[in-house]
Amino acid sequence: MLLISLLFRKRKELKTDIRSLDLVDIKKFCQENNMKPYVSNQVYSWLWNNFSSSFSQMSNLSKSNREIFNENFSINKITEDFEERSDDGTIKMRFKLYDGNFVEGVLIPQNTRMTACISSQVGCSLSCKFCATGTMGRTRNLSTGEIYDQVVAIANKCKEVYNLPLTNIVYMGMGEPLLNYRNVIKSIHFITSSEGLEMSYKRVTLSTSGIAKMIKRLADDNVKVNLALSLHAASEELRNSIMPIGGSNSLDDIRDALKYYFSKTKRKVTYEYVLLNEVNDSIKDAENLYKFTKHIPSKVNLIEYNTVDGLGFDRSSDKNTDLFMNYLDAKRVNVGLRRSRGKDINAACGQLANKK
Ligand code: SF4
Repeated sequence: MLLISLLFRKRKELKTDIRSLDLVDIKKFCQENNMKPYVSNQVYSWLWNNFSSSFSQMSNLSKSNREIFNENFSINKITEDFEERSDDGTIKMRFKLYDGNFVEGVLIPQNTRMTACISSQVGCSLSCKFCATGTMGRTRNLSTGEIYDQVVAIANKCKEVYNLPLTNIVYMGMGEPLLNYRNVIKSIHFITSSEGLEMSYKRVTLSTSGIAKMIKRLADDNVKVNLALSLHAASEELRNSIMPIGGSNSLDDIRDALKYYFSKTKRKVTYEYVLLNEVNDSIKDAENLYKFTKHIPSKVNLIEYNTVDGLGFDRSSDKNTDLFMNYLDAKRVNVGLRRSRGKDINAACGQLANKK
């Protein structure tokens, strides 16, 4: 339980973002300030159902109650700072956070499927060698509200530009979602419950680079979203050379965690595999991938790499890509190739780095 007394300090510079509080905490605050019990529910609904950015918008609260909330809390909304549109319709949005940091989110239109790719951290600590975000380091985790705001902002953009609702959400932007577990899980709650956007769990995909113990926790907590594992190499040595996280989470650890995950959830896992020219795209690499995928029901998304200046990796040739896919096909692996989207605006997979 949060230390309620600490949260309610009145000095302006110490105002707490009210969206970091649970409903129980807001109820307690209301009680301590002699407000009617239903006020907490009204405030909660303004915050999560109506996306309010100030207490003055909460028109069914009395003026004095609005003032009390305003004196004690802030609402740290994100604001759209910059936007870029790709020739293929992809829209990259850069968001400014209350403390001056930035993160990016992307709207990816594919026929009637409208996907929001959102960030969970400012930067990322995992330093995957092929990823632009990995060069930034991690500044901080995003709050639940900041993650949720990206979805709302991208949904609004989708409505405005394409006149269509958002259909899918992927936690594949900046950061490792499982290293910001609490806030990510809470944001999924608001995206999927009647307290927020009421989208189906089946439309939400969480992508991890492979934090084995947190994959087990996802299973234990019965978080019903789709799980994608950014595998990118299925031999220990190669994976460690391009994804330093492999040093503390071996392929054996990850495989055990995924088996545990499947035994508890009965949900298929998706393996993401970015094809890097002459790094991980040989037939031997395909064979390793096939062996890794055999243990639980799964599918494989091969991803076209988007070159990032200075990182020294290139996209696989068409020939190698075909050979790789054909090998997996012949082994009856459920495999597809994800073409790059938004690469002309640095909005594609692995290219998010807050660059204009
Ligand atoms: S690929 Fe994902 S986990 Fe790896 S550095 Fe980039 S954002 Fe972080």
